[in-house]
Amino acid sequence: ASPAHPSTHHAVVVASAGGPEALAWTEVPVPTPAAGQVLVRTAAAGLNFIETYQRSGVYAVDVPFTPGTEGAGEVVAVGDGVDGSLVGRRVATAAGHATYAEHFTAPADQLLDVPDAMDLADAAALPLQGMTAHYLCRSTFEVSEGQTVALTAGAGGVGLLLTQLASARGARVIAAASTEEKRELSRAAGAHAAVGYAELRDAVLEATGGEGAHVVYDGVGRDTFEASLTMLRVRGLLVLFGGASGQVPPFDLQRLNSGGSLYVTRPSLAAYTRTAEETRQRGAELFSAWTQGSLDVRIGARIPLSDAGRAHQLLESRATTGKVLLTLP
Ligand code: NDP
Repeated sequence: ASPAHPSTHHAVVVASAGGPEALAWTEVPVPTPAAGQVLVRTAAAGLNFIETYQRSGVYAVDVPFTPGTEGAGEVVAVGDGVDGSLVGRRVATAAGHATYAEHFTAPADQLLDVPDAMDLADAAALPLQGMTAHYLCRSTFEVSEGQTVALTAGAGGVGLLLTQLASARGARVIAAASTEEKRELSRAAGAHAAVGYAELRDAVLEATGGEGAHVVYDGVGRDTFEASLTMLRVRGLLVLFGGASGQVPPFDLQRLNSGGSLYVTRPSLAAYTRTAEETRQRGAELFSAWTQGSLDVRIGARIPLSDAGRAHQLLESRATTGKVLLTLP
């Protein structure tokens, strides 16, 4: 380790898959940045749903491990082949390794520059859910003026950002969320209508003269997938991008035929940030929209990283809105 950082630090470690209590604040060695990587001193890590799947064993991960791919902070060291002038740079990333820690490594070509006007810890709120919302409405499907977009978990991290991006493109967004408080946040983000899950289909059909949505973005999965299929117009697209309620079971492709030549896709961020250039472009657009005041990033909670178990428990019990940041003192 260079003199710029200590040789040990604290990290959240999962020794074996389990509930939120499996996240233990532990003293471990600071990682060394490999070739092509930087070492970042963490200002905050971003909480994302995928970390609950990994912690609980829904997604198989080798243990012990430290969760997290999203974080923001200051570059304190660089690996071989990386420009040393990056040291001192304020950065954020969705592609870090083990960001639930006081330091993390990240590929140098997956760093986003944090605008001077943005608090460095707050910058951890945007990369992962922001680039997800961006690719969903720009690349998986190109949302455009006059279209109708339906979405689940409208007041969630991805949901609030996607609502803003899709409505800024002139689409009519109709969102579902479980409580009136969440629906109010969804409307404030630009949703034309925000309703309970049981009302989403009727709201979409009513708004479209019975035609249905051009695209449905469904990150809830098991509990909503069937209904999501029934609110699409002919040749509409269902984008299943997560399983907050559980994974969708195997599915009969004939359903797409009887539904009116429907499309279904199951995308992931990594496939839409494959090159440094693609990542840089998405990130730059998001941070500049924030700087210009056209994109609001709601930070629903700031929870100390050492208490990450409480953050997981809140996310899994549907008690959060917008982004949850895992902060350091
Ligand atoms: P959110 O902030 O949206 O939190 C999840 C929300 O899902 C809850 O607040 C809740 O909203 C809703 N929900 C519905 N049913 C359940 C349930 N049984 N348990 C828990 N939550 C439930 O999380 P994120 O924005 O981080 O992620 C949203 C989804 O997007 C996740 O499935 C995640 O895995 C996925 N994702 C996918 C990516 C990709 O590239 N494919 C990238 C990033 C995220 P309500 O109470 O209103 O129902």
